[in-house]
Amino acid sequence: MNASFPDSAAAATLPETGLPPLHLLIAAPRGFCAGVDRAIEIVERAIERYGAPVYVRHEIVHNRFVVDTLKAKGAVFVEELDEVPDGKPVVFSAHGVPKVVPMAATERGLDWLDATCPLVSKVHRQAERKVEAGRHILFVGHKGHPEVIGTMGQVPEGAMTLVETVEDVARLDFPADQRLAFLTQTTLSVDDTAEIIAALKARFPSIVGPRAEDICYATSNRQAAVKAIAPRCQLVLVIGAPNSSNSLRLVEVAEREGSKARLIQRATEIDPAWLEGVTSLGLTAGASAPEVLVREVVAKLGTWRQVHEEPVTTTEEHMVFKLPRQLMS
Ligand code: SF4
Repeated sequence: MNASFPDSAAAATLPETGLPPLHLLIAAPRGFCAGVDRAIEIVERAIERYGAPVYVRHEIVHNRFVVDTLKAKGAVFVEELDEVPDGKPVVFSAHGVPKVVPMAATERGLDWLDATCPLVSKVHRQAERKVEAGRHILFVGHKGHPEVIGTMGQVPEGAMTLVETVEDVARLDFPADQRLAFLTQTTLSVDDTAEIIAALKARFPSIVGPRAEDICYATSNRQAAVKAIAPRCQLVLVIGAPNSSNSLRLVEVAEREGSKARLIQRATEIDPAWLEGVTSLGLTAGASAPEVLVREVVAKLGTWRQVHEEPVTTTEEHMVFKLPRQLMS
Protein backbone atom coordinates (compact mmCIF):
# COMPACT_ATOMS: atom_id res chain seq x y z
CA MET A 1 0.00 0.00 0.00
CA ASN A 2 1.34 3.44 -0.86
CA ALA A 3 1.64 5.94 1.95
CA SER A 4 -1.07 8.58 1.65
CA PHE A 5 -0.25 12.23 1.01
CA PRO A 6 -2.49 15.14 0.12
CA ASP A 7 -2.36 16.37 -3.46
CA SER A 8 -0.75 19.79 -3.30
CA ALA A 9 -0.20 20.19 -7.07
CA ALA A 10 -1.88 23.20 -8.57
CA ALA A 11 -3.57 22.88 -11.94
CA ALA A 12 -1.39 24.26 -14.74
CA THR A 13 -2.71 26.97 -16.98
CA LEU A 14 -0.94 27.45 -20.29
CA PRO A 15 0.71 30.86 -20.48
CA GLU A 16 0.85 33.14 -23.53
CA THR A 17 4.54 34.01 -23.16
CA GLY A 18 5.89 33.55 -26.67
CA LEU A 19 8.57 31.27 -25.17
CA PRO A 20 9.30 27.95 -26.89
CA PRO A 21 7.59 24.86 -25.47
CA LEU A 22 9.47 22.85 -22.88
CA HIS A 23 10.05 19.18 -23.67
CA LEU A 24 9.98 17.51 -20.26
CA LEU A 25 11.56 14.07 -19.96
CA ILE A 26 10.33 12.45 -16.75
CA ALA A 27 12.48 9.57 -15.55
CA ALA A 28 10.98 6.35 -14.24
CA PRO A 29 11.55 4.76 -11.83
CA ARG A 30 11.69 7.82 -9.60
CA GLY A 31 10.53 8.81 -6.14
CA PHE A 32 9.37 6.53 -3.35
CA CYS A 33 10.99 3.11 -3.05
CA ALA A 34 9.62 0.12 -1.16
CA GLY A 35 11.72 0.93 1.93
CA VAL A 36 10.38 4.48 2.14
CA ASP A 37 6.78 3.36 1.54
CA ARG A 38 7.20 0.85 4.36
CA ALA A 39 8.79 3.33 6.78
CA ILE A 40 6.02 5.90 6.29
CA GLU A 41 3.34 3.24 6.66
CA ILE A 42 4.94 2.08 9.91
CA VAL A 43 4.64 5.59 11.37
CA GLU A 44 1.06 6.01 10.13
CA ARG A 45 -0.01 2.63 11.49
CA ALA A 46 1.79 3.23 14.79
CA ILE A 47 -0.19 6.47 15.23
CA GLU A 48 -3.43 4.54 14.52
CA ARG A 49 -2.46 1.79 16.97
CA TYR A 50 -0.96 3.76 19.87
CA GLY A 51 -2.57 7.16 19.29
CA ALA A 52 -0.58 10.41 18.95
CA PRO A 53 2.08 11.27 19.73
CA VAL A 54 4.34 8.61 18.29
CA TYR A 55 8.02 9.53 18.51
CA VAL A 56 10.34 8.99 15.56
CA ARG A 57 14.10 8.93 16.08
CA HIS A 58 15.65 10.96 13.23
CA GLU A 59 13.73 12.00 10.09
CA ILE A 60 11.87 8.83 9.10
CA VAL A 61 13.14 9.46 5.56
CA HIS A 62 15.10 12.47 4.33
CA ASN A 63 12.25 14.60 3.02
CA ARG A 64 10.80 17.65 4.72
CA PHE A 65 7.39 17.29 3.04
CA VAL A 66 7.07 13.72 4.32
CA VAL A 67 8.21 14.73 7.80
CA ASP A 68 5.79 17.69 7.96
CA THR A 69 2.90 15.53 6.73
CA LEU A 70 3.59 12.94 9.43
CA LYS A 71 4.00 15.66 12.07
CA ALA A 72 0.50 16.88 11.19
CA LYS A 73 -0.78 13.35 11.79
CA GLY A 74 0.83 13.11 15.25
CA ALA A 75 4.47 12.09 14.80
CA VAL A 76 7.12 13.85 16.89
CA PHE A 77 10.63 13.79 15.46
CA VAL A 78 13.63 13.67 17.79
CA GLU A 79 17.32 13.02 17.21
CA GLU A 80 18.11 10.88 20.26
CA LEU A 81 16.27 8.26 22.28
CA ASP A 82 16.61 10.20 25.54
CA GLU A 83 14.25 12.83 24.05
CA VAL A 84 11.45 10.21 24.02
CA PRO A 85 9.35 10.40 27.21
CA ASP A 86 8.85 7.21 29.24
CA GLY A 87 5.84 5.20 28.13
CA LYS A 88 5.70 6.61 24.59
CA PRO A 89 6.20 4.50 21.45
CA VAL A 90 9.19 5.23 19.21
CA VAL A 91 9.97 4.35 15.59
CA PHE A 92 13.53 4.03 14.27
CA SER A 93 14.08 5.58 10.83
CA ALA A 94 14.54 3.78 7.49
CA HIS A 95 18.31 4.41 7.60
CA GLY A 96 18.84 2.01 10.50
CA VAL A 97 20.30 2.55 13.96
CA PRO A 98 23.32 1.26 15.89
CA LYS A 99 22.54 -1.86 17.95
CA VAL A 100 22.74 0.07 21.21
CA VAL A 101 19.64 2.12 20.32
CA PRO A 102 17.01 -0.67 20.37
CA MET A 103 18.86 -2.16 23.37
CA ALA A 104 18.47 1.11 25.27
CA ALA A 105 14.79 1.36 24.24
CA THR A 106 14.16 -2.17 25.53
CA GLU A 107 15.95 -1.38 28.82
CA ARG A 108 13.65 1.61 29.26
CA GLY A 109 10.60 -0.56 28.54
CA LEU A 110 9.63 1.55 25.51
CA ASP A 111 7.45 0.14 22.72
CA TRP A 112 9.69 0.48 19.67
CA LEU A 113 9.20 -0.24 16.00
CA ASP A 114 12.04 -0.65 13.56
CA ALA A 115 11.46 1.04 10.19
CA THR A 116 14.98 0.19 9.01
CA CYS A 117 14.74 -0.74 5.34
CA PRO A 118 15.09 -4.53 5.01
CA LEU A 119 17.88 -3.94 2.47
CA VAL A 120 19.83 -1.99 5.09
CA SER A 121 19.10 -4.70 7.68
CA LYS A 122 20.56 -7.22 5.24
CA VAL A 123 23.85 -5.26 5.24
CA HIS A 124 23.73 -5.21 9.06
CA ARG A 125 23.50 -9.01 9.16
CA GLN A 126 26.31 -9.37 6.63
CA ALA A 127 28.50 -7.12 8.79
CA GLU A 128 27.86 -9.24 11.87
CA ARG A 129 28.61 -12.47 10.00
CA LYS A 130 31.84 -11.18 8.51
CA VAL A 131 33.11 -10.01 11.90
CA GLU A 132 32.10 -13.34 13.48
CA ALA A 133 34.14 -15.01 10.74
CA GLY A 134 37.18 -13.03 11.91
CA ARG A 135 37.29 -10.49 9.12
CA HIS A 136 37.87 -6.75 9.37
CA ILE A 137 35.32 -4.85 7.26
CA LEU A 138 36.07 -2.05 4.85
CA PHE A 139 32.77 -0.22 4.55
CA VAL A 140 32.26 1.93 1.46
CA GLY A 141 30.03 4.86 2.40
CA HIS A 142 29.72 8.52 3.30
CA LYS A 143 30.96 9.65 6.70
CA GLY A 144 28.22 10.95 9.00
CA HIS A 145 25.26 9.55 7.04
CA PRO A 146 22.82 7.88 9.46
CA GLU A 147 22.93 4.62 7.50
CA VAL A 148 26.71 4.51 7.90
CA ILE A 149 26.46 5.27 11.63
CA GLY A 150 23.81 2.52 11.95
CA THR A 151 25.78 -0.08 10.03
CA MET A 152 29.06 0.67 11.81
CA GLY A 153 27.13 0.35 15.06
CA GLN A 154 26.30 -3.31 14.36
CA VAL A 155 29.83 -4.48 15.14
CA PRO A 156 32.31 -3.79 17.94
CA GLU A 157 34.24 -0.54 17.71
CA GLY A 158 37.32 -0.92 15.53
CA ALA A 159 35.92 -3.86 13.54
CA MET A 160 35.02 -1.67 10.56
CA THR A 161 36.92 1.00 8.62
CA LEU A 162 35.08 3.57 6.49
CA VAL A 163 36.29 4.04 2.92
CA GLU A 164 34.88 6.98 0.96
CA THR A 165 37.12 7.27 -2.10
CA VAL A 166 39.69 5.48 -4.25
CA GLU A 167 42.31 7.70 -2.55
CA ASP A 168 41.20 6.30 0.84
CA VAL A 169 41.90 2.80 -0.49
CA ALA A 170 45.47 3.81 -1.35
CA ARG A 171 45.96 5.04 2.23
CA LEU A 172 44.78 1.81 3.90
CA ASP A 173 47.45 0.05 5.87
CA PHE A 174 46.71 -3.58 6.74
CA PRO A 175 49.15 -6.47 7.14
CA ALA A 176 49.24 -8.95 4.26
CA ASP A 177 47.65 -11.69 6.35
CA GLN A 178 44.72 -9.53 7.57
CA ARG A 179 41.41 -11.19 6.66
CA LEU A 180 39.29 -8.47 5.03
CA ALA A 181 35.76 -8.07 3.72
CA PHE A 182 33.97 -5.13 2.11
CA LEU A 183 30.38 -3.96 2.28
CA THR A 184 28.70 -0.83 0.93
CA GLN A 185 26.08 1.74 1.87
CA THR A 186 22.86 1.15 -0.11
CA THR A 187 22.51 4.61 -1.68
CA LEU A 188 25.88 5.19 -3.36
CA SER A 189 26.81 6.05 -6.93
CA VAL A 190 26.92 2.77 -8.84
CA ASP A 191 29.87 3.95 -10.96
CA ASP A 192 31.96 5.43 -8.10
CA THR A 193 31.41 2.35 -6.00
CA ALA A 194 32.50 0.04 -8.81
CA GLU A 195 35.78 2.00 -8.99
CA ILE A 196 36.33 1.83 -5.23
CA ILE A 197 35.61 -1.91 -5.15
CA ALA A 198 37.97 -2.47 -8.08
CA ALA A 199 40.66 -0.55 -6.15
CA LEU A 200 40.01 -2.63 -3.02
CA LYS A 201 40.29 -5.88 -4.96
CA ALA A 202 43.48 -4.72 -6.66
CA ARG A 203 45.05 -3.70 -3.34
CA PHE A 204 43.79 -6.71 -1.33
CA PRO A 205 43.29 -9.63 -3.74
CA SER A 206 41.92 -11.96 -1.06
CA ILE A 207 39.26 -9.51 0.18
CA VAL A 208 35.73 -10.95 0.14
CA GLY A 209 32.47 -9.13 -0.47
CA PRO A 210 28.85 -9.67 -1.35
CA ARG A 211 28.12 -11.24 -4.76
CA ALA A 212 26.79 -7.89 -5.96
CA GLU A 213 27.55 -4.67 -4.05
CA ASP A 214 24.86 -3.66 -1.58
CA ILE A 215 23.62 -0.64 -3.54
CA CYS A 216 19.88 -1.21 -3.50
CA TYR A 217 17.61 -1.82 -6.47
CA ALA A 218 15.93 1.58 -6.05
CA THR A 219 19.20 3.53 -6.06
CA SER A 220 20.50 1.62 -9.11
CA ASN A 221 17.22 1.94 -11.02
CA ARG A 222 16.89 5.69 -10.39
CA GLN A 223 20.49 6.27 -11.51
CA ALA A 224 19.93 4.19 -14.67
CA ALA A 225 16.78 6.17 -15.48
CA VAL A 226 18.65 9.48 -15.10
CA LYS A 227 21.42 8.15 -17.36
CA ALA A 228 18.76 7.47 -19.99
CA ILE A 229 17.34 11.03 -19.96
CA ALA A 230 20.31 13.25 -19.10
CA PRO A 231 22.10 13.07 -22.50
CA ARG A 232 18.91 14.45 -24.07
CA CYS A 233 18.52 17.28 -21.55
CA GLN A 234 20.06 20.71 -21.09
CA LEU A 235 19.07 20.67 -17.44
CA VAL A 236 17.86 17.93 -15.07
CA LEU A 237 15.87 18.80 -11.94
CA VAL A 238 16.20 16.30 -9.10
CA ILE A 239 13.59 16.54 -6.35
CA GLY A 240 15.20 15.58 -3.07
CA ALA A 241 16.66 16.85 0.17
CA PRO A 242 20.26 18.08 0.54
CA ASN A 243 20.82 15.31 3.13
CA SER A 244 19.36 12.58 0.89
CA SER A 245 22.28 10.49 -0.32
CA ASN A 246 20.46 8.86 -3.22
CA SER A 247 19.13 12.24 -4.44
CA LEU A 248 22.62 13.80 -4.41
CA ARG A 249 23.89 10.87 -6.43
CA LEU A 250 21.18 11.51 -9.07
CA VAL A 251 22.49 15.07 -9.50
CA GLU A 252 26.03 13.72 -9.98
CA VAL A 253 24.88 11.10 -12.49
CA ALA A 254 23.05 13.71 -14.59
CA GLU A 255 26.12 15.98 -14.56
CA ARG A 256 28.39 13.13 -15.61
CA GLU A 257 26.13 12.50 -18.56
CA GLY A 258 26.77 16.07 -19.71
CA SER A 259 23.64 17.83 -18.46
CA LYS A 260 23.40 20.59 -15.92
CA ALA A 261 21.54 19.44 -12.82
CA ARG A 262 19.87 21.07 -9.83
CA LEU A 263 18.62 19.60 -6.58
CA ILE A 264 15.33 21.12 -5.42
CA GLN A 265 13.07 20.29 -2.50
CA ARG A 266 9.93 21.99 -3.81
CA ALA A 267 8.68 23.70 -6.98
CA THR A 268 9.05 27.09 -5.29
CA GLU A 269 12.84 26.67 -5.37
CA ILE A 270 13.01 26.67 -9.17
CA ASP A 271 14.54 29.90 -10.44
CA PRO A 272 12.93 30.74 -13.80
CA ALA A 273 16.35 32.02 -14.92
CA TRP A 274 17.55 28.38 -14.92
CA LEU A 275 15.17 27.71 -17.81
CA GLU A 276 16.42 30.47 -20.08
CA GLY A 277 17.38 28.85 -23.38
CA VAL A 278 16.30 25.44 -22.11
CA THR A 279 13.96 23.55 -24.42
CA SER A 280 14.67 20.04 -23.13
CA LEU A 281 14.38 19.51 -19.38
CA GLY A 282 14.72 16.33 -17.32
CA LEU A 283 12.90 15.59 -14.09
CA THR A 284 13.37 12.89 -11.47
CA ALA A 285 12.95 12.43 -7.73
CA GLY A 286 15.02 10.71 -5.07
CA ALA A 287 13.70 7.66 -3.22
CA SER A 288 12.34 9.74 -0.34
CA ALA A 289 10.43 12.29 -2.47
CA PRO A 290 6.71 11.69 -3.01
CA GLU A 291 5.10 11.84 -6.45
CA VAL A 292 2.94 14.77 -5.39
CA LEU A 293 6.11 16.92 -5.47
CA VAL A 294 6.83 15.80 -9.04
CA ARG A 295 3.35 16.89 -10.10
CA GLU A 296 3.82 20.15 -8.22
CA VAL A 297 6.98 20.85 -10.28
CA VAL A 298 5.21 19.97 -13.55
CA ALA A 299 2.36 22.32 -12.62
CA LYS A 300 4.82 25.11 -11.78
CA LEU A 301 6.66 24.68 -15.09
CA GLY A 302 3.28 24.86 -16.80
CA THR A 303 2.73 28.36 -15.44
CA TRP A 304 5.83 29.53 -17.35
CA ARG A 305 5.91 27.45 -20.50
CA GLN A 306 3.91 25.01 -22.59
CA VAL A 307 5.09 21.64 -21.27
CA HIS A 308 5.21 18.48 -23.37
CA GLU A 309 5.72 15.54 -21.03
CA GLU A 310 7.62 12.44 -22.17
CA PRO A 311 7.83 9.64 -19.58
CA VAL A 312 11.03 7.62 -20.01
CA THR A 313 10.78 4.26 -18.25
CA THR A 314 13.89 2.13 -18.00
CA THR A 315 12.43 -0.57 -15.76
CA GLU A 316 9.30 -1.45 -13.77
CA GLU A 317 9.50 -1.87 -9.99
CA HIS A 318 7.23 -4.21 -8.02
CA MET A 319 9.11 -4.49 -4.72
CA VAL A 320 7.01 -4.48 -1.53
CA PHE A 321 8.39 -5.07 1.97
CA LYS A 322 6.45 -6.62 4.85
CA LEU A 323 5.58 -4.54 7.88
CA PRO A 324 6.98 -5.42 11.32
CA ARG A 325 5.08 -8.23 13.09
CA GLN A 326 3.71 -5.85 15.78
CA LEU A 327 1.70 -4.00 13.12
CA MET A 328 0.42 -7.02 11.19
CA SER A 329 -2.38 -8.07 13.52
S1 SF4 B 1 16.72 3.69 -1.08
FE1 SF4 B 1 17.03 1.47 -1.08
S2 SF4 B 1 17.92 0.98 0.92
FE2 SF4 B 1 17.04 3.06 1.05
S3 SF4 B 1 14.98 2.73 1.83
FE3 SF4 B 1 14.82 2.72 -0.41
S4 SF4 B 1 14.99 0.53 -0.98
FE4 SF4 B 1 15.72 0.75 1.12
